[in-house]
Amino acid sequence: MAEIRLHNTMGGETEAFVPLRAGEVRMYTCGPTVYDYAHIGNFRTFVFQDILRRFLKLRGFKMLHVMNLTDVDDRIIANAAAAGVGIREYTEKFVQAFFADCKVLSIESPEHWIRATDHIEDMVKLIERLQKKSFTYDGEGSIYYRIAKFPAYGKLSQIDVAGIQAGARVDNDRYEKESARDFALWKAPKPGEHFWETEIGAGRPGWHIECSAMAMKYLGETLDIHTGGIDLSFPHHENEIAQSEAATGKTFARYWMHAEHLLVEGEKMSKSLGNFYTLRDLFAKGYKPSALRFALASVPYRKQLNFTFDGLQQAASSVERLRNFADRLAMGKFPAGVSKEMVGRIAQAAEEFDAGLSDDLNTARGLAAAFDLVRDMNIAMDKNAVFQGDVAGAREFLGNFDRVFAVLEDNDGEMLRALGYGGPDTSGDDADIEKLVAERQAARQRRDFAASDRIRKELAERGIILEDSKDGGVRWKRK
Ligand code: AMP
Ligand code: ZN
Repeated sequence: MAEIRLHNTMGGETEAFVPLRAGEVRMYTCGPTVYDYAHIGNFRTFVFQDILRRFLKLRGFKMLHVMNLTDVDDRIIANAAAAGVGIREYTEKFVQAFFADCKVLSIESPEHWIRATDHIEDMVKLIERLQKKSFTYDGEGSIYYRIAKFPAYGKLSQIDVAGIQAGARVDNDRYEKESARDFALWKAPKPGEHFWETEIGAGRPGWHIECSAMAMKYLGETLDIHTGGIDLSFPHHENEIAQSEAATGKTFARYWMHAEHLLVEGEKMSKSLGNFYTLRDLFAKGYKPSALRFALASVPYRKQLNFTFDGLQQAASSVERLRNFADRLAMGKFPAGVSKEMVGRIAQAAEEFDAGLSDDLNTARGLAAAFDLVRDMNIAMDKNAVFQGDVAGAREFLGNFDRVFAVLEDNDGEMLRALGYGGPDTSGDDADIEKLVAERQAARQRRDFAASDRIRKELAERGIILEDSKDGGVRWKRK
């Protein structure tokens, strides 16, 4: 197996990945701010993290992975107030929607999914540690971090900190990214806003402190990997480093990995341009979760991803091609024996797949290894040159492939229905179904397996299960 190499934003180099504790990876992911549905740009980053996690697992590492849900921030407070509900009540709907979105995209659950509002006490304790070391100062009931006291500030993003004005401070969670400013660790309550009564006074946490406090609580003071979208590197991650390292005197995270942004048809996604998509929007247009996952995963994470509907369509056909190949392996009749050449070809694909993903998670290379093998084996199968003894190796390859890419299971419609998105139309009377079943039988008789597979899939989408009997007949039933 190849050495795993990952690009570390800290230092800007691609380095060999070696976790601090052998065999175990402790990873933190900045999760969504649950003030609205997450969009496909967010999911570009979350799918990247999932591919990373799944690949590390495939390589035998035990994962300890934490993702937070930011369920208190300026926008949440404003929206909850406008809706006349508490912040917990306001965010619950978006938390549940986020979980469903992750599930439908086959994003594995991290070991800990945690909410900021369940960890106020941990944040208060961390702020107290910073107070004791004089990294903070007070101003009108709020508590600020004194950047000038942390000379390493800027080391991740290489932001120029020369322009910091002493004491220039910023109170809102999201602010302009041009200059470093002292940021709020704790914010004094504003009239009508939600606040907590704590040892450091009444108020609520700033955005950055939650990630430092929660990451260290679950993963220890030094983590292996910290991930997020590229926009988080400054100021959010720079501030996380300043808070954590000032408190502990230790390196906070050893590898920082950032995903480049997703653009839509070459433009930044925005509600005003009408190119802003949530998963719901795409499923309502009839696109499948597996196609979206494939499209998001196919571009290596450090490249901008230009999302287009053409690309999504192509992703859907790529997934189809893989599934057809898996079906052919499962259902085909192969002559007895084994082909040394084919066994070697499969081993080479497996090696290339591993080398691609080990190369800073080069998903395009991993996919190319799979599609080249699919092409070669399809050609060989057409010539009856794939033997029974070759099949297990090919299936193992596909199994490993899918432990990372997770697109082979033909369950899009089912998942959409189960998670309440509303799936494809399942209607169709018995006569329609009988007609399709007969067409499939005819296709099988003339050995047109592509056509018979296509019809079987269409029936599956309608919730029809086929049971082939030994004598060549077929029975069908509704799920
Ligand atoms: P937020 O909910 O805004 O905190 O974002 C959640 C995650 O999505 C963060 O890691 C962001 O960096 C990431 N993100 C936001 N917009 C995009 C985008 N257009 N493309 C890729 N990742 C994004
Ligand atoms: Zn964070």
